[in-house]
Amino acid sequence: MYIRPFDPWKSRLCTCPFKYTLNVYTGCNHACVYCYITSYIPNAFQVRVKEGLLSKLERELRSFDRRNLIALSYSSDPYPTVERELGITRKVLELFKRHNVRCLILTKSDIFKRDIDILSELRCAVGVTVTTIDEGKARLLEPNAPIPKKRINALKKAKEAGIPVYARIDPIIPFYTWEDFGETLEALSFVSHITVSTLKLKPDSKRRMFAKFPDLMEKLWPLYEQGERMEGYYYLPRALRMQIMREAERKILERGITFGSCREGYHSFPSCDGSHLVPP
Ligand code: SF4
Repeated sequence: MYIRPFDPWKSRLCTCPFKYTLNVYTGCNHACVYCYITSYIPNAFQVRVKEGLLSKLERELRSFDRRNLIALSYSSDPYPTVERELGITRKVLELFKRHNVRCLILTKSDIFKRDIDILSELRCAVGVTVTTIDEGKARLLEPNAPIPKKRINALKKAKEAGIPVYARIDPIIPFYTWEDFGETLEALSFVSHITVSTLKLKPDSKRRMFAKFPDLMEKLWPLYEQGERMEGYYYLPRALRMQIMREAERKILERGITFGSCREGYHSFPSCDGSHLVPP
């Protein structure tokens, strides 16, 4: 089955409402230094096409309950660079339209701008992840993803087309992306909902962070050493995470945007993931 219930390893910290997920591609070439899919997908930064995806999906959608929601994509990005040429996600959206599927899109690309014609006819919400508005920092963190301004401009176009839009500022990295949080938020102030989350490291993403950001990690890692180890991830100390959550929440709510947090043990309203924006 390509459409599967979203179940992030039964994490007790996950507060997502029930939804399904579909990964259009295997792997993702955005190659974010902090990415966690590398801990369970071999050659995770190499994008592979799934054999017979569209025909199998068509069959699965025939019996899919239209009240449910499908999220694209949580173990990849629905818009890796190759999607510009291949258009497989576009074909998936056409299938969704034919079967009247509710969907939640999340990407670190601006390619979805091409699909606004279909998205505007779907029961959907579209979100982009922007870790920082600082182009130089984003290039280092997410080397193959389009720059944040392009993602944000594409999201503005989606909003103009009447599509509900949201964003993730995730991961928040102390001494790095947290420094620009105010400006990043300002650039996203037109969205309806924002989800935030602090950097959670796995052993392999920790190694990549040390290799790429040795000076930053010299300051950052001692904090993780004082922090918690939960569900296979290194977390920042709880007091610091809660301080970041409270400050982020205050700044987001001040702008009339609703607030969500992801796997922090902190609250969210009306949903953590923006799924409340998808029309019933
Ligand atoms: S966009 Fe997401 S899945 Fe792709 S490399 Fe970055 S963190 Fe990993």
